[in-house]
Amino acid sequence: MIDKIILNYKYLLQPTKQQRSSLWNILQSCRHQYNEGLELWNECYECCKIGLNAFMLNEYFKDKYQNVYSQVKQNVNKRLETSFKNFFDKRSKYPKFKSKNQYRSFTYPQSGFKLINDKKIKLSGIGEVKLVYHRPIIGKIKTCALKLSKTNKWYAIFSVEVEPDNFFELPNNKNTNAVGLDIGIKTFASLSDGTQIDNPKFLVNSFKKIKRAQRKLSHKKKGSHNRKKQIIKLAKLHERVTNQRKNFHFQIAHWLVNNYGLIAVEKLSPQFMIKNHKLAKSASDIAISQFFNILTYEAYKHQTLVGQIDPKNTSQICSKCGKIVLKDLSVRTHQCPYCGFVCDRDINAAINIVDRVPDEFKQKYNFLRNGTVGMTETLTPVETSTAVFESKDLKSSVVDETGSSLL
Ligand SMILES: [Zn+2]
Repeated sequence: MIDKIILNYKYLLQPTKQQRSSLWNILQSCRHQYNEGLELWNECYECCKIGLNAFMLNEYFKDKYQNVYSQVKQNVNKRLETSFKNFFDKRSKYPKFKSKNQYRSFTYPQSGFKLINDKKIKLSGIGEVKLVYHRPIIGKIKTCALKLSKTNKWYAIFSVEVEPDNFFELPNNKNTNAVGLDIGIKTFASLSDGTQIDNPKFLVNSFKKIKRAQRKLSHKKKGSHNRKKQIIKLAKLHERVTNQRKNFHFQIAHWLVNNYGLIAVEKLSPQFMIKNHKLAKSASDIAISQFFNILTYEAYKHQTLVGQIDPKNTSQICSKCGKIVLKDLSVRTHQCPYCGFVCDRDINAAINIVDRVPDEFKQKYNFLRNGTVGMTETLTPVETSTAVFESKDLKSSVVDETGSSLL
């Protein structure tokens, strides 16, 4: 359900004088090849109205520019092909000849490069070039691009594909705080340390507007002009909410990865979806998986772990004694008849979520669980009107939320 993620890792190269000149020569060969390919393209098109593709160009350049690794050459042709494709799809202007200033990189698409002991990179046609490996690469390397910056420095940029399945196997950052996160509807998210993140007011208001617009639409006559107008109005509202929500998701994800080293979430499963469907009339499961995607993406960028755990019974089990305390969705407070533990329902779930993190991580991380957190940190609300608050005092938080008594 969470897509593969492509990330770019950029490292400074420290080439010798000789390597520097090889890199430069290859770059210029690629540029010449690109310009020659473009010229050929123009000629062919002018005389017989035939466009060229990368395959034809590969054939043409097979025996030319011998100093360049074959796959790098093919990648140049691919680049030209893409330029034309973008032009024909009206995404960019007609491809132009490139000057030295405009052509600054070449790419090894699959092979021809190899990292050696995290200190050097072996490049076909260049040799072993020193590289400053300032951060570890997570995931599978797909391509390696070499880029000359405007300041005349060479960089290796690895494009990495990340499988979001084995989140727990990633190296961790210095933050050793682990937290569980429960996604809710009334409250957007509850954390095992007692923090709750409310849905922002603007989203709630927008949802109300959408409902109203939908109701209006249902009263319009089918096929009428007014109905059409109302449909457009509704579509615009939807678009606005989508954007607002996305921004909100990014802000929350950002805040989370900056504050925690490990974030445990529930694995999105049919069971999870059903639980949330019942709760949600406005929020869709698409929005939830979008948030998880964004969180995962932000987490990889900050080297924070996001771990998915089995969501079974996370809201029913008492996080203190482990017994099952059945409650339906309207019951917002977990109150354990066995051990007496009283807690907001979602925070109880969040504690269960963080407790399911595999043992090997339990030694490395401090588990931020409700009641065990020593400090009360006041959270600055994110720029929007998002209400973010930390509730060490559970009772008041529960009363705040429901506005009624605990039972
Ligand atoms: Zn209990």
